[in-house]
Amino acid sequence: MAKRDYYEILGVGKDASGDEIKKSYRRLAMKHHPDRNKDDASAEEKFKEAKEAYEVLKDGDKRAGYNRYGHAGASGAAGGGGFGAEGFGDVFGDVFGDIFGGGGGRRGGASQVFRGADLGYELQLDLERAVGGDTATIDVPTQVSCEGCRGSGAEKGSEPVQCTTCGGVGQVRMQQGFFSIQQACPTCKGAGTVIADPCKSCHGRGRVSKTKTLSVKVPAGVDQGDRIRLSGEGEAGRNGGPAGDLYVEIRVEPHKIFERDGADLSCEVPISFATATLGGDVELPTLSGHVSLKVPAGTQSGKIFRLRGKGVTTVRDHGTGDLFARVAVETPVDLTEDQESLLQNFEDSVNAGGDRHNPRAGGWLDTVKRFFDKIN
Ligand SMILES: [Zn+2]
Ligand SMILES: [Zn+2]
Repeated sequence: MAKRDYYEILGVGKDASGDEIKKSYRRLAMKHHPDRNKDDASAEEKFKEAKEAYEVLKDGDKRAGYNRYGHAGASGAAGGGGFGAEGFGDVFGDVFGDIFGGGGGRRGGASQVFRGADLGYELQLDLERAVGGDTATIDVPTQVSCEGCRGSGAEKGSEPVQCTTCGGVGQVRMQQGFFSIQQACPTCKGAGTVIADPCKSCHGRGRVSKTKTLSVKVPAGVDQGDRIRLSGEGEAGRNGGPAGDLYVEIRVEPHKIFERDGADLSCEVPISFATATLGGDVELPTLSGHVSLKVPAGTQSGKIFRLRGKGVTTVRDHGTGDLFARVAVETPVDLTEDQESLLQNFEDSVNAGGDRHNPRAGGWLDTVKRFFDKIN
């Protein structure tokens, strides 16, 4: 079978530019690619034919040889290599990788897009705001799309142009010894486009630093370490990529009265020695106002009272916890002589009554005595 003319195969003129030849080859290769024409046996032949023509015409030396001597000239210039046996593999990494999915995130001839970075922001809240919920206003330093160039990086009236180093693919093949290595294009840094006339506002970056003021809805019941995601409020993307997200992390300041453990709150309640002894009502703070706590007579220091439902309603399961109030009996200080003498009289009177007035001390002394008896 007589070989067809390479220019005829690709449907281009003898004076076609390298770009025209490439474009035409791409179109034909897409059309006849065996993966797309599983039922058509002639497609593979046409695909190989187009590839062979392209291999010759894309190469200046081979093309010159072909123009002079026809098919023989091209083969000679190629070192006698045949084309038919090569298969399709090598085409993929060449002009083709970007079309048939060999190249990761790249699109055919289009520039590479990058999603903007996610941002983190620590939001300090006091316990009341965390428990009750709030709307907080925050200032976030970020990168936003440049308004002057709408993020393109090119000065008004101009456009980013296709990078000539990589032909817009964003990747180049470097020959290293026997190996051909694909790497990001050094000219356009993988973007596929270069900016001839950079925007003056952003110096061609397409993004500018800006402090964004945002309103954050803090739901009631959030706790230390909870994160609120604000979709699309992170850094602007590049080359038209989507913006990242902003994660607002909750930091709850220590509270003067309460400690929080999930849904429960705890606090310490100092009461006087007399109240602990005689009993009485104590004012107790909660996050929703004061309540009265009835302290029974003979309450010991360290006793914990549980107030049901006076804890926190959590943001997750909306369950409400309890408030645990731990009593601390206060030792009176700075007494007058009168008070001291009253207290001494009181002590003498209590001692006359024996251990029953001081049940813990009595038991404790017994324990200590047994301990020493054992040692001796
Ligand atoms: Zn700009
Ligand atoms: Zn490039």
